[in-house]
Amino acid sequence: MEKKEFKAESKRLLDLMIHSIYTHKEIFLRELISNASDACDKLCYRALTDSAVGMERKDFQIRLAIDADKRLLTVSDNGIGMNRDDLEDNLGMIASSGSFRFKQELGDDAKDTDVIGQFGVGFYSAFMVSDHITVITRKYGEDAAWKWESDGSEGYTIEEASRDAAGTDIILHIKPDTDEENYGEFLQSWKVQSLVRKYSDYIRFPIRMEVSKTRKKEGSTDENPEYETYQEEDTLNSMVPLWQRSKSEVTEDEYGKFYRDKFHDYGEPLRVITVSVEGAVTYKALLFVPSAAPYDFYTKDYQAGLQLYSSGVLIMDKCADLLPEYFRFVRGVVDSPDLSLNISRELLQHDRQLKVIGANLEKKVKSDLLKLREEDREKYETFWKQFGRQIKYGLVSDYGAHKETLQDLLMFYSSTEKKPVTLAEYADRMPGEQKYVYYAAGETPEKVDRLPQTELLKDRGTEILYFTEEVDEFCAQTLRAYREKEFRSVLDQELEEGDSEKAKETAEAHKATFDFVKEALGDKVKEVKASARLKSHPVCLTAEGLSFEMEKYFHAVQPDIGVQAGRVLELNVEHPVFASLEKAVSDDPEKAKKYASLLYSQALLIAGLPLDDPSGYTDLVCGLMK
Ligand code: ADP
Ligand code: MG
Repeated sequence: MEKKEFKAESKRLLDLMIHSIYTHKEIFLRELISNASDACDKLCYRALTDSAVGMERKDFQIRLAIDADKRLLTVSDNGIGMNRDDLEDNLGMIASSGSFRFKQELGDDAKDTDVIGQFGVGFYSAFMVSDHITVITRKYGEDAAWKWESDGSEGYTIEEASRDAAGTDIILHIKPDTDEENYGEFLQSWKVQSLVRKYSDYIRFPIRMEVSKTRKKEGSTDENPEYETYQEEDTLNSMVPLWQRSKSEVTEDEYGKFYRDKFHDYGEPLRVITVSVEGAVTYKALLFVPSAAPYDFYTKDYQAGLQLYSSGVLIMDKCADLLPEYFRFVRGVVDSPDLSLNISRELLQHDRQLKVIGANLEKKVKSDLLKLREEDREKYETFWKQFGRQIKYGLVSDYGAHKETLQDLLMFYSSTEKKPVTLAEYADRMPGEQKYVYYAAGETPEKVDRLPQTELLKDRGTEILYFTEEVDEFCAQTLRAYREKEFRSVLDQELEEGDSEKAKETAEAHKATFDFVKEALGDKVKEVKASARLKSHPVCLTAEGLSFEMEKYFHAVQPDIGVQAGRVLELNVEHPVFASLEKAVSDDPEKAKKYASLLYSQALLIAGLPLDDPSGYTDLVCGLMK
C-alpha cells in the first residue's frame, strides 16, 4: 500500500477560502492588525526573559500609512518579524499558523500573552482588497531582511531586502475600483480610522497613523480667524477593554461612560453585570441593563444582540444568539480567546462554545436580576416597568418552555400591598387553607380595585393580584399553578370549591325570577346565575371561554375576527335591588323586563364593555325615573 498526500490547487483553494470565509471585505484590516499585535506580543514575551531585547511593552506599536496616489496601504509593526523559513511556513502555506504553534510551545504560559491568531488564514483576506501584496520583514536577532511578494494567484517570490530593525511591513496595493466595489475607500483616512475603532479598538498596542487636523493659523486674530491643516500622528485605538479589568478596579463613572459611548444611550445603565469564566470555555463579559427601554424596543426594528470579541478583536456587532429573546434588552460585550476570528454568521449559530457561553450568560443575567431585587427593590421595579412585558412574553412563548426560568422574576400589583409583588411573596403570605392564587384583570389597578367582584375577597382580607397588561392572563394560563396553587380569576371563576353548587341552590330558591330574567334578555346572555362573589353590588357580568380582557385584546389586534367571551349575568340575591326585581316579576312583568335590561346594561358598563344600545339605556333610566 502506498500512502499519498492530498494535492491542492492552491490558487483555487485560496479563492475559495477568501470568498467563503469572510462576509465583509473590510475585515482584512482587522486581520493584519491582529497579526501585527501578535508579532509585538511575541517579542514582548521574549523580552521578559531576554534582556538583550531591550524593549518594554510601551515600546511596541503598530503603524498605518496611506499613499493614495500609489494606492498603497501599509501596516507595520516592530514585533518579532519573520525570516525566510518563517515566510515559507507561514505565508507560503495556507492554513499554517505560526501563532498557533507559538501558543502550543508556550503551553500553560500562553495565557500570559494575548496572541490572537490560530487558523493561519487571516493574512490572505488582504487579497480581497489588494491585487498585490509586498511584505518586508526582519526577524528579531537576525541581520537579514526579506521581501515576500505575491499577487495572490501565481504563487509568491522571496528575495533579500533591507530593514533597519526587527519588524514587518505589510504593503497592500489596493485593487482598482469597479462598478460594484469602491476599494478606494480603504485609502481614505477617515475610513481606515473608523475601521480601527470598529474592529481593533481594544488591541493592546497603540495603532498610530498620521492624520490631518486643522488649527488656527498663528497670528490670525479671534475676530478674523484663519485655519490651516497639518499632519500629526494620532493613536487611533483606545486600548483599554474595560471588561478585562476586575469590577473593583473600575468606577461606576467609567462603566457609565463606556456604556453611553458604546451603546449610544443618554441614560445611565440600571445595572452592570460582569462575568469572568475560566474552564471549558474561557470568556469575559460586561453586560448592561438599560434604565429605560429604547423607543423601538417593543417593535420589529429593535436589534438585539451582544458584541462578540475574540481577544479584543470584534467578530460581530450584534450577536443575537448569545442571549434568549426574553433577555434581549441586555446590552454588552463578550470576549473569548477561544473563539475564532474567521467564523461566519452561519457557523456561529452552531458554535458549541457560543452555546455554552449563552447558557451561562442566561443564568447569570437571571441571578443578577434576582440579586438586584433583593438589594434595591425600587430599581428592580423600574426595571420591571420597562422590561417586564418582555419577560412575560418569554414566559408564554414556546408553549411555556421557559416558565421555570422566568416565573421567579414576575411581579404583579397586589390588592393588599398596593405595589408589585412576586409570586413567592404572595404564596408566603397566603393562609394555609387558601386554595388558589387569585387574580383580577383590568386596565389599571384603580379600575380593577373598583370592580364589584373583588369586594368580597378584599373584605375577607384575601390578597388579589391585579393583571393590568394584556399578556398577564396568558401568563397565568401558561403557569396554571404556582407552588401547586392554581390561578383563579376572581372575575370569572368559582372563588371557592362548592360555590357553584351553592349558587345553583340559591337560584333554585328564586327560580321564577332567574328564569324570567333569562327569558327577558334572550340571546344576550348565556346564563343568569346567582352570584357567590358579590357583596354591596347587585349585579356583575362574568365571562365564559375567554375573559373580557382577552376579548378586548383580540378585538384590538384583529377587529374582524369577532371572538367574544360568553356573557353570564350574576345576580346578588342578598341585595335590596334583587328584592325589587323579584317583586316586579310577580306584580308587574313589564316593569320587571325593564329592570332586567337595566341590570344587564349596568353589568356591561362595569365590565368596561360597550352598551349595545346607549340611547335605549338612557331612555330606560329616564322612563323609570318619571
Ligand atoms: P493566524 O494569525 O491565524 O496564525 P494568519 O494567516 O493571519 O493566521 O497569519 C499566518 C502566520 O503568519 C501567523 O501565525 C504568523 O506566524 C505569521 N505572520 C503574519 N503576520 C505577521 C507579522 N506582521 N509579523 C510576524 N509574523 C506574522
Ligand atoms: Mg491572523
